[in-house]
Amino acid sequence: METTTNVTTKVETKPSIYSLQLEELKNWLKENDEKAFRAEQIFDWLYKKRVTSFEDMSNLAKGLREKLQAHFTLTTLKTIIQQTSSDGTIKFLFELHDGYSIETVLMRHDYGNSVCVTTQVGCRIGCTFCASTLGGLKRHLEAGEIVAQVVNVQQVLDETDERVSSVVIMGIGEPFDNYDNMLSFLKIINHDQGLNIGARHITVSTSGIVPKIYQFADEDTQINFAISLHAPNTELRTRLMPINKAYSLPELMKAVRYYINKTGRRISFEYGLFGGVNDQVEHAEELAKLLKGIKCHVNLIPVNYVPERDYVRTPRDQIFAFEKTLKDHGVNVTIRREHGHDIDAACGQLRAKERQEETR
Ligand code: SAH
Repeated sequence: METTTNVTTKVETKPSIYSLQLEELKNWLKENDEKAFRAEQIFDWLYKKRVTSFEDMSNLAKGLREKLQAHFTLTTLKTIIQQTSSDGTIKFLFELHDGYSIETVLMRHDYGNSVCVTTQVGCRIGCTFCASTLGGLKRHLEAGEIVAQVVNVQQVLDETDERVSSVVIMGIGEPFDNYDNMLSFLKIINHDQGLNIGARHITVSTSGIVPKIYQFADEDTQINFAISLHAPNTELRTRLMPINKAYSLPELMKAVRYYINKTGRRISFEYGLFGGVNDQVEHAEELAKLLKGIKCHVNLIPVNYVPERDYVRTPRDQIFAFEKTLKDHGVNVTIRREHGHDIDAACGQLRAKERQEETR
């Protein structure tokens, strides 16, 4: 009799070595009968020399290199697309070990090179204007997959002797929905033996997961903090961001006050201008009232066109009128400069396009 065995081949996945903080690597070494100080040498290879294989870590014994190779992966991201815009912005589409793709963007500012990283494959927050949420959440990224984005971009910059000087966690995903991995990522890139990116040069943005705002306030970091606000009142915010039903605007503002009192730092609010929805002078007045007495800064973002979403741009004059109204009420405000317009640089757009092509 013939029998058929159903074998599912599970692809063995090893953790990324970039997921380990220095202390964690020391512990791993001790548990594996190696000297803890090797961790510093490994960090040096990973973050200062930025090698692409364990083989290259030439001051480590062959036995240790083999152990590392057996337990960890080093190259977790495969570059599928690297597009350079006329303004120097470079957009990367990376493939992960399980075939999912994520986006990372390098932006050029007069104060340096900034990298925008992704924290999740997709997103489950469901903001009605955002491309990242279109296919829902597939999975969280592990810390090392976020670190590797910065390392990969730095490796590209190494070719011209340039440095990543700041990082914004504003790519695909909700960082506070992947909190522990995000925090581990922050510690690794901030570490002076890691990429040594100063906390004041790192910004994390959330759609407003209130309990995590309290937790973040208590972490005692110097990292810049931004909140995607997008509306001056409950009705409008709920329409744009369903998360407002889970965590209401008053609850959010209470958490904001807690953060400012606890850290002494100011908060940035992102306010996307969606044509005819939240961009009238009355909205600016209402926003100024909401933010009265709060140590903050408002970043106005003219809507990025997403084909699946039918939001339209606010005319230039109206953007300036909105800005002026806020200024007249004493609110710190800037209009976000746009990067890489010619290469789909807005969050999730390249990936969304790729996904569409995959499913065609
Ligand atoms: N999930 C986090 C991190 C993303 S940051 C957050 O929501 O804060 C990316 C910023 O771009 C957020 O403020 C987001 O609301 C905004 N954004 C997303 N899609 C946009 C679009 N089509 N036009 C303008 N801003 C958009």
